[in-house]
Amino acid sequence: MNGEFDLFVIGAGMAGTTAANKCASKGWRVGIVDALPYGGTCALRGCDPKKILRRGAEVIDAAHLMRGKGITENGLSIDWSALMRHKRGFTDAVPQGMEDELIGNGVTTFHGSARFTGPNQLEIDGTEHRAKRFLIATGASPRPLSFPGHEYLIDSTDFLDLDALPHRIVFVGGGFISFEFAHIAARAGVDCVIIDHGDRPLREFDPDLVASLVTRTEQTGIRVQLGTSVVGVTRTATGLDVTVDQGGKTSTIGADLVVHGAGRIAKLDGLHLDAAHIAAGPRGVTVTEQLQSTTNPAVYAAGDSADTPGRPLTPVAVFEGKVAASNMLAASTTPVGTSTTPDYTAVPTTVFTIPELNRVGILESEARDSGLDIDVRLTDTSGWYSNYRVGETTASAKIIIDRASDRILGAHLLGPGYAELINIFGLAIKLGLTSRQLKSMTATYPSIGADLGSML
Ligand SMILES: Cc1cc2nc3c(=O)[nH]c(=O)nc-3n(C[C@H](O)[C@H](O)[C@H](O)COP(=O)(O)OP(=O)(O)OC[C@H]3O[C@@H](n4cnc5c(N)ncnc54)[C@H](O)[C@@H]3O)c2cc1C
Repeated sequence: MNGEFDLFVIGAGMAGTTAANKCASKGWRVGIVDALPYGGTCALRGCDPKKILRRGAEVIDAAHLMRGKGITENGLSIDWSALMRHKRGFTDAVPQGMEDELIGNGVTTFHGSARFTGPNQLEIDGTEHRAKRFLIATGASPRPLSFPGHEYLIDSTDFLDLDALPHRIVFVGGGFISFEFAHIAARAGVDCVIIDHGDRPLREFDPDLVASLVTRTEQTGIRVQLGTSVVGVTRTATGLDVTVDQGGKTSTIGADLVVHGAGRIAKLDGLHLDAAHIAAGPRGVTVTEQLQSTTNPAVYAAGDSADTPGRPLTPVAVFEGKVAASNMLAASTTPVGTSTTPDYTAVPTTVFTIPELNRVGILESEARDSGLDIDVRLTDTSGWYSNYRVGETTASAKIIIDRASDRILGAHLLGPGYAELINIFGLAIKLGLTSRQLKSMTATYPSIGADLGSML
């Protein structure tokens, strides 16, 4: 048994490292552990590597859109292994860099799988550690699938580390992972199929814009098969057969690779939460608004492994890590300091397809269901100068405005470069700006930001 820590953090991703660094900077004795190299999902197996691989696809697509407009593709192609090297040029340095930063801030780092052995105690590979408080920041993992042959599927981590791409990939599930990966793989010449059991994919996004994205996706050569469930996957002499059911009709899709894009759940397996009386549900550790466990006051949770109103996104993991740290610090002072709660207002989210699909604030349907009197400004922006310039054929904006106050309630954007534009709408919603106030912004010209005023 080692000496007691003020805080022990399980998981060295964005939520865990943010909290560990903050508490260590206040003089706390902090321990942190990860079963995998330090850095977490975003930097090593998610956002960052994905967007590096997407860059290759962007170049191909940009040249393709400029065909006949002065650009000849002349055998332009993705050299996947070189692109993968470019990705590793970033990811390989992350674990040591992150660990060095933690150590530099006075945090004690451990490697291995942690599991609770008591309310104030955990074990890492046979060694027990005691702490006054714990932060569970263990992230998420792919949702278990039950159809026969599910063991043949690879997950997003495997996809982002493939040394070579095969000819045919089937993506199971119509969420952001399948769409983003299919958009990358298709530009590298892979024959891609996305299967989704629902009648529309990307359900958290605006349905009108999703419909346009599906059309653009299909124009790229990706097949999107909706209302289709996977019955099973079998190995054949040449690859894999994915048997699917569409409206009672069974058929088979041949593939070389089948990728799990059917959702992620909080990763709590193996933590032995019962040993520390920590309640959890399918969405993660059950916490109060202050991110404290409802059943063990010594435990907090943040990021993808906490059951909070926040989406499983990096910025959310970061600010939840900050809030958990600040509440633990406040609770330890005499008199007890003021606690805070995460502010989930106007967190933007993007599907990094080409072009990208973005959302911030509420959907049109949510506004109508709440009985709000709204003005919906839906504009096809594909003919606008900024899209004409790059040859993009699919782009639109839908802005939801409260009629009474003129405040912006939601913004939904599909178009090249709009992942930057959505941040401005996020700020406008957070600050409660009216559409008139936002329209008064002067943007540099000709930039995509200059389109914002005309979207309102
Ligand atoms: C393919 C992909 C693409 C994504 N793209 C984006 C994007 O573009 N933008 C965005 O905002 N978000 C994106 N996300 C989501 C984002 O990566 C996560 O929301 C974020 O990384 C969550 O951070 P976290 O700190 O909660 O968990 P993580 O970063 O997952 O860290 C948890 C850590 O805990 C460790 N761990 C788990 N159990 C134990 C244990 N028992 N003992 C020790 N260690 C343990 C894990 O090894 C892991 O390193 C993406 C996710 C994926 C999978």
